[in-house]
Amino acid sequence: MPYRAAVPRSASTLDPFVRQALAAIDDAGRLRITREAQVLPCGRIRREGREFLDFSSNDYLGLSLHPLLAERACDWTQRYGTGSGASRLVTGTGEAVEALEARIAAFKGTEAALLFATGWQANASVIPALLQAMPGAAVCADRLVHASMHAGIAAAGARQHRFRHNDCDHLEQLLADKGRDAPARLILTESVFSMDGDGPDLIRLGEIARRHDAILYVDEAHATGVLGPGGAGLTATVPGTVDIVMGTFGKALGGFGAYVAGSRALCDYLLNRASGFVFSTALPPAALGAIDAALDLVPDMAEERAHLAGLAARLREGLHDLGIEHGESISQIVPVIVGGEADALALAERLEAAGMLAAAIRPPTVPPGSSRLRIALKAGQSLADVDALVQAIGANR
Ligand SMILES: *Cc1c(COP(=O)(O)O)cnc(C)c1O
Repeated sequence: MPYRAAVPRSASTLDPFVRQALAAIDDAGRLRITREAQVLPCGRIRREGREFLDFSSNDYLGLSLHPLLAERACDWTQRYGTGSGASRLVTGTGEAVEALEARIAAFKGTEAALLFATGWQANASVIPALLQAMPGAAVCADRLVHASMHAGIAAAGARQHRFRHNDCDHLEQLLADKGRDAPARLILTESVFSMDGDGPDLIRLGEIARRHDAILYVDEAHATGVLGPGGAGLTATVPGTVDIVMGTFGKALGGFGAYVAGSRALCDYLLNRASGFVFSTALPPAALGAIDAALDLVPDMAEERAHLAGLAARLREGLHDLGIEHGESISQIVPVIVGGEADALALAERLEAAGMLAAAIRPPTVPPGSSRLRIALKAGQSLADVDALVQAIGANR
């Protein structure tokens, strides 16, 4: 029988369900769409034909356009192919991959590291694997941890105890209260929070973890490449304190993929039990080559990091002078907290008219009443760019 292509259909029986769900999202004023855009050098972006200052993307060091990353991605593709073909447990692991993991471990100052396809996948599958090894563990999570950690906790079927954002006292209270009779305890947090650009006191967290015999898990998605010695992240400033670190290569490192770093035993265990590793095709050579090149560059980018910190300080100063709340940011992410959802959207629109893109972040991503613009600065931007941003925010009030 000749092959007959499926008749293209404009609708499926699924559509009434998703249309109704979409209408509910729209009614709540939270409908999102994707738009055509292209990243440009110097912290610029072209969207739908128009050029903007980019205060949205997480390509903090501009590495996604660095020629060395492009060259190595091509080189590794020529040498090893465009795809990895299967999970590493099925096909095996090229020597380049293991060498790269050793580099990541050295960069993070840990015994070992394991590559994952994405940070989301790492969190969502490492947490259930850990909880499988620590049955009945009490899970204490900062209430603002990333959606991927919540996905991991949910996948494990575990109940979480949420502590107030960066509040070590509250964490201790939960550990003493809910954690005391549990067979083990797991603390989940981030070194730089994606929406607020702030972070916990890692030294104190380490002390608390030790005192309560708890495992400390820190997400460094926004610190990797930007903060800490040689851009190794903030956990590198407190060696031996954090049990499990994860981070992504898709943000400051300009590529794609993610890592989990910790002890050799941890990585040996995760490659057996983290489903996102076991059942997913390994990263393609192009992504691995780009990571390898980024690791060549990042340790020596102290000047870019200092410039980025200077931009953030300038922005915080400007917001302070305008009397606008900007939280406890310690990083290149600075929230411009305006309160109401409509106010945040209106400010984003006015900035867009002024040629600047910054995402309005609203509930449920942030708590009600704390809607904001999330400003993510880039090392390729200038003090004049930040001054223009401050002026635009001030002029529109
Ligand atoms: C972006 C992000 C992730 C996910 O990383 P991807 O590699 O983009 O999937 C995980 N945690 C935090 C805090 C993030 O901001």
